[in-house]
Amino acid sequence: SAPRRPLMAGNWKMNLNHLEANLLVQKLAASLNEKQLTEVETVVLPPFTDLRTVQTVVEGDKLLIGYGAQDLSPHASGAYTGEIAGPMLAKLGCTYVVVGHSERRAYHHEDDALVGAKVQAALTHGITPILCVGEGLDVREQGGQVAHCTAQLDAALKGLSAEQVAQVVVAYEPVWAIGTGKTATPEDAQEVCGALRARLADSFDQGTAEKVRILYGGSVKSSNVASIMAQPDVDGALVGGASLDAEEFAKICRFP
Ligand code: PEP
Repeated sequence: SAPRRPLMAGNWKMNLNHLEANLLVQKLAASLNEKQLTEVETVVLPPFTDLRTVQTVVEGDKLLIGYGAQDLSPHASGAYTGEIAGPMLAKLGCTYVVVGHSERRAYHHEDDALVGAKVQAALTHGITPILCVGEGLDVREQGGQVAHCTAQLDAALKGLSAEQVAQVVVAYEPVWAIGTGKTATPEDAQEVCGALRARLADSFDQGTAEKVRILYGGSVKSSNVASIMAQPDVDGALVGGASLDAEEFAKICRFP
């Protein structure tokens, strides 16, 4: 089967206005050559208010950089004040959307059913969901990380066909490693990423499992990315803090 193309996705969270976004995208593009951008898929995930600006700079300068949003509504349109729908994101050229980030699960009480509905909504509108799963410190200390993450995976993919699942990107983000400076060891990352792929093979089929890209996220930096990417079931990284610095994120994208 074709090797999985590495994916580096920068989750800006609630940082950078549209002027700052414009600058960061231009700096990032200037720091990476065409070969690098072709080999490693490079994606930014800005706040909603930056997406139109990012579209303009990416399309205007024909940059080989993808972009997407950090969340979407499970609904396609309607009376949902404050929400943003999949068709709106698709119209702005978004090719990715983060679904089920641990910060949304924790602060916005997103449960597995809602996360699953958002995965479905993204796929319906032709946007690749980056489905986040990950355990908290309590679960990790009990050794329950694999059971926890595979259960989150099962719940979010419930009712999807193998063809749909093959479109999904999964991100393993241990909650205790997000924004804490604590990185999972490469072996910790591989343990769960490998278990997630095995679960996909069990629930769907081997070919589908081999197509799905599985990212690691949690305090990824240019200094630790190579050892994480060396793991067989890690196909990329979801990067928070370090993606706000163009040169640092470019270094991460140049990991090979
Ligand atoms: C994230 O929030 O997706 C993340 C991985 O954050 P950080 O890299 O800052 O730990």
